[in-house]
Amino acid sequence: MAVDIINPYAVAVAQFDAAAERLGLSQAMRAILRKPKRELIVNFPVRMDNGDVEMFTGYRVQHNINRGPAKGGIRFSPEVSLDEVRALAMWMTWKCAVVGIPFGGAKGGVICDPHKMSRSELERLTRRYATEISILIGPNSDIPAPDMNTNPQIMGWIMDTISMHQGYSIPAAVTGKPIAIGGSEGRLEATARGVQVITRDAMLDLNMQPDKCSVVIQGFGNVGSISARLLYELGCNVVGLSDIHGGVYNAQGIDVHRALRHSKEHGSLKGLADAEAVTNAELLELPCDVLVPAALENQLTGKNASRVKARLIIEAANGPTTPEADQIFNDRGITVVPDILANAGGVTVSYFEWVQDLQRFFWAEHEINDRLETIMTRSYRAVRQKSIEQETNLRMGAYLLAVARVAEATEIRGVYP
Ligand code: NAD
Repeated sequence: MAVDIINPYAVAVAQFDAAAERLGLSQAMRAILRKPKRELIVNFPVRMDNGDVEMFTGYRVQHNINRGPAKGGIRFSPEVSLDEVRALAMWMTWKCAVVGIPFGGAKGGVICDPHKMSRSELERLTRRYATEISILIGPNSDIPAPDMNTNPQIMGWIMDTISMHQGYSIPAAVTGKPIAIGGSEGRLEATARGVQVITRDAMLDLNMQPDKCSVVIQGFGNVGSISARLLYELGCNVVGLSDIHGGVYNAQGIDVHRALRHSKEHGSLKGLADAEAVTNAELLELPCDVLVPAALENQLTGKNASRVKARLIIEAANGPTTPEADQIFNDRGITVVPDILANAGGVTVSYFEWVQDLQRFFWAEHEINDRLETIMTRSYRAVRQKSIEQETNLRMGAYLLAVARVAEATEIRGVYP
């Protein structure tokens, strides 16, 4: 059977091209911004616990660094590809620009299945990958952070590896670290907290009351599970949740705290009491007011977009909606808050973490959360205003703002030499 493979980089470039066209960017500027600036491919050996040596492939891509050092997460997954990393790097450039933080865009990834590796194998893989990409990363050049299947411990190993090479500690080389080694209060929850703020603000504009809204969330990792908790705390009725093993649904509502405990104890949501099992495909089409994709790319496509019931889609994941699905949502009057805005809370608090590490001066959690909320609300307002002025949707509004900022920086800096 033929499988439709949607290339995320082609999606990212198509989104950029549409914004560039509308902004009337010169052909030269379009050519510069369409391509990643640097792409590093590394093939490296890792000794496994049984004594065998296995080869792994990893990537680090920097899309654009005209507004500041490159910034972007590291993903460990069997599905990682160079084009996926390119797309994620480009989205990081626009994301940092849309929320106005002084970074460019980057992303990294290793093709591996971390669920099949022991902790010590994962540590050796991480340290060797960090060494291989150390020619690019550092506090002034390129600062990684967690993404799918990577976490604060993995960031800690990267920080330690870079520090060992230098002979002194360099906490600002990576963000999303444990607090004990220079991580920031509030970073673990930051992406989801941003999702909560954006959902609340978008609901207000759509005259939707949180306590009268049902929510479905795909993905129950860092972003999905904490978004579930924070939207539940906002008063929403969370009716559907899922992870890679499948979904659970209860039209009356799921007790999110119980789901969190269940997932922690059993390693998945499977078998959650008082909820019916659904597939991930069914989950996206469940009756609900708000749909939050928080897992991976290309989940909402031309195939299922016409059956989505939600009125509001909050893109907590990167690239969950294809351009074809976007058009369908647009035509159906469904509001989509784009990834480059909706999930920007993570990189915003990563920016706070980097600033705190450089200054060796740490802020209290309430300061982090207050500043995050200010930036998210301000950015949402600016994007909405732009989309109203330009009579377009929120994704195009966000792209128009972000691409113009990056193009301006690129223009001012000029073409070297
Ligand atoms: P994670 O590894 O913590 O969680 C991923 C979740 O998705 C897990 O519950 C996993 O079971 C589920 N999942 C994986 N494959 C799936 C599939 N095929 N169908 C359904 N569920 C599946 O990752 P995360 O950090 O929560 O990242 C999730 C998304 O959010 C990614 O798109 C990532 O790029 C984006 N994001 C993350 C951050 C961050 O700070 N961690 C910031 C911005 C954006």
